[in-house]
Amino acid sequence: MIGLDSLTPKSKLLLLFISIAVGLFSVSVMSVLNINATKKNLDTIYFGSLVPVMELNEILQIYHSNVASNAYKVKTEQISSDEGAMLIEEGVQKIEEIWQTYRSHFKRYDEMLYVDYTSLEIENTNGYFQALINTSMEHSDVLMISINDIDESISHIHGVIQKLIRYETDIAKYERNKFLTEYNERNIKLITVLVLVILIVLAIIYYVFKAIHEEHKKLKLASSKLQAVNKKLENASYTDSLTGLYNRRYFDMIFEREIRRARRDNLYVTFMMLDIDYFKQYNDTYGHVEGDRVLRMVAEGLRSVLRRPTDYLFRLGGEEFGVLIVGLDEFESATLAETICETIETMQIPHASSKVSSVLTVSLGFVCAKMQAEFQPSDYVLNADAMLYYAKQNGRNRFMMRTKIEPVEKVKNEQIA
Ligand code: GH3
Ligand code: MG
Ligand code: MG
Repeated sequence: MIGLDSLTPKSKLLLLFISIAVGLFSVSVMSVLNINATKKNLDTIYFGSLVPVMELNEILQIYHSNVASNAYKVKTEQISSDEGAMLIEEGVQKIEEIWQTYRSHFKRYDEMLYVDYTSLEIENTNGYFQALINTSMEHSDVLMISINDIDESISHIHGVIQKLIRYETDIAKYERNKFLTEYNERNIKLITVLVLVILIVLAIIYYVFKAIHEEHKKLKLASSKLQAVNKKLENASYTDSLTGLYNRRYFDMIFEREIRRARRDNLYVTFMMLDIDYFKQYNDTYGHVEGDRVLRMVAEGLRSVLRRPTDYLFRLGGEEFGVLIVGLDEFESATLAETICETIETMQIPHASSKVSSVLTVSLGFVCAKMQAEFQPSDYVLNADAMLYYAKQNGRNRFMMRTKIEPVEKVKNEQIA
């Protein structure tokens, strides 16, 4: 859907709800309209057609039972002329009343023609009976009434009204058929609109959810990329770019933590400091670029010895390296220190200007001890540094070790001496 991607998720959901609401609203309006139209049609059939038929039947009934029957009774002297006249008069008036009500209903043009004709016929018939009443009242002569005339008159008006009734019934049938057709058409329209609305709403829902899903996917991708970049950045900030070893910053961050953890577990901590011998001279002899390459080679040599994931290897600065190992005792640490020195030496990197060897060598000082309450983690660094100093003092290309942490003051005094 055009432009849907540019909407915010909130707008998309809003659009979804609006479309559902509009859909339901239009379906409701259609249903109400349909029900109203049905009601109107029912009214037309029952009150527009049935009532007139009932009224016409009632008129016929009065003609037979009130008017004709009383005329016979007078004729056969079952009732007096006066009483008969009164009853016939009553019947005629009732017929006129009902007829007026019937006429007041809505009529079609062609229907009106026949209604007018029937009106005249009713008027004539009523006039006939009125005249009959007047005559019999005046002469008190019941024999004046001819049974044949009454029969003829009643059967004539009966025929006329029956025809009108048939006409009304036909109209009712016609209206009913029309209503059923209209009702079916409306139902089809309603169902069509309903299906259309549902399809449109479903389509909108589909597109909105697709767009939200796409957005979610993009977001997840972006977030995983960001995480990867963050991880890289984090690693970069803890790594020395020349050698790939941990840098000073990382050393500062984890050193104390690792020492305190080892103390909790009552484990040995070995901290080594290494320094390349006569590296200044190496640079002077072979150049700084070659010096850098050698630093990388030394780092690689250290890595080949210290391969456990718990061994920490740092480039502490310049050509100085640090090694932190937890869980090695004095003997194991000494063996390891020796291995490190030998490994570098056996790399056979020529160092013509070294005063201790023809190849590149390192000096190493370390301390291996369990942490005691009276010392600080920094005392490990100080003591290892002191041992490195001794290693340099004692001819380089060697290691010196201490298995007990000496207090700061003593170490400083030792170095001055
Ligand atoms: P010693 O045996 O007493 O350690 O002698 P040294 O010459 O190694 O003395 P020192 O440790 O004081 O000298 C360090 C030298 O290391 C100084 C500098 O030229 C060199 N250096 C420090 N960082 C780098 C580096 O990143 N690249 C290179 N090529 N050389 C470095
Ligand atoms: Mg140095
Ligand atoms: Mg050095």
